Amino acid sequence: MIEVNLFGGNPEMHSEIITIIAELRRRSDVVINFTTTGRRLMRDHSFAEQIMETPPDIIALSADDFEDAEQIYRLHTMPLEALYTEWKSIPWTHGQRQKAIEAIYTARLLAGKAQPAVLFNLVIHSANVNRVVSIVTALAESFPGCRINPFPSQTAFMYQPGDMGDLASFERIVDWMIAAHHDQTLPVTRRLHYWLALKAACQVNRSNPSMLADAVGGAPFWQCYKSFGANRYLQIGKSSGTHHKTIGGGHLGCFWNDETITRSDVQVWDMTSREVTDFLREGATALAANSSKACPGCAFPRLLFDVLSTEAGLANDLIPAYLKLRQSHVGY
Ligand code: SF4
Repeated sequence: MIEVNLFGGNPEMHSEIITIIAELRRRSDVVINFTTTGRRLMRDHSFAEQIMETPPDIIALSADDFEDAEQIYRLHTMPLEALYTEWKSIPWTHGQRQKAIEAIYTARLLAGKAQPAVLFNLVIHSANVNRVVSIVTALAESFPGCRINPFPSQTAFMYQPGDMGDLASFERIVDWMIAAHHDQTLPVTRRLHYWLALKAACQVNRSNPSMLADAVGGAPFWQCYKSFGANRYLQIGKSSGTHHKTIGGGHLGCFWNDETITRSDVQVWDMTSREVTDFLREGATALAANSSKACPGCAFPRLLFDVLSTEAGLANDLIPAYLKLRQSHVGY
C-alpha cells in the first residue's frame, strides 16, 4: 500500500483538496491521511459534507494545544453548537485555544463513523511535558477508536538548541510509551523502534542535559541522509530558498529543512520513476554532501518511517544503546 499524507500548513485551504482526495480515493492501493486543524470542517457545512462523501482514511488533528485533561473532558461533553459558540467567543489572537476547540469539534463530528478514523498528533513541548500522560488518557477515554501520536517538539532542523525543559518528565513519557507497546489497550501509534531510539538518547546523554535536550530536538539523533535506506519517506513540497515564490510545490526534499536534500531544479511531475527512485536511494545523500548548511537532524516520527530507515539514519553514538534496548524488548 502507498500511504499518502496530505499535510502542512493546512491542506483544507487548498482550493482543490476535495478533488485531490477523490482522485486518490479511486485507487485501491492508497491510504489517505488528511492533516487538518478542523477549522473548515467546523465552519463550512458543505465542505464537511463533501469530505464525508469521499472521506480520507484518516483525519489527523492537532492535540498540541490542550491546556490539560480537564479541558478535554469539558469540551467533549458540550453540544456541537455550544462548542462553535465558544470558538467564536475566543479572540483570533488566541489561536491555540481556537485550535483546541476545532480539534474536539471535528473529532466529535466524526465520532461513530466508520471512516475516516481520527488520529491526534500531539507535540510534546516544555509547556505540556508534565501533562502528556493525562492528555493522552483523556483523549483515549473521550474518543474511543482514535489513535494518538505523541512526539517531541523538534528544533534541530531550524539550527536551534533543544527546548524540552523537564527532561526527567520526558524520559518518563518515553518509558510509558515503550510500556504501551506491550499493553495493547492504549491507543497510541505503534512505533516501538522510534521510542527505543529516544530511550537510547536518554540513556546516552542523561548526564548532560543540554546534549539530551538537543538529541530530543533532533541532533545528534537521526539524519535522513546519513546512509542508504534512511531516506525512505518521500516528501513532496516547496523548493528551497525563495524559489518557492516563483515555482510553487512539487519538489522532492524536506518540508522542514529546505537547505539539505531539496531538489529545487525540478518538479516531481517532470521526473521519471527512475529519477525519483535514485533520489530516495542516494540522491538525498549526495545533495546533503554539497549543502553548505546541512540539517543537523530530526526526530519526526513520520520521517524516521520504519525500523529500517530509523536504524539507517540513527546517530552513531546511540546505536550500541539502541541495539541493547532492541534485544531486550524485541528479542534480536
Ligand atoms: S528529514 Fe532530513 S532534512 Fe528533513 S528535518 Fe529530518 S534530517 Fe533534516
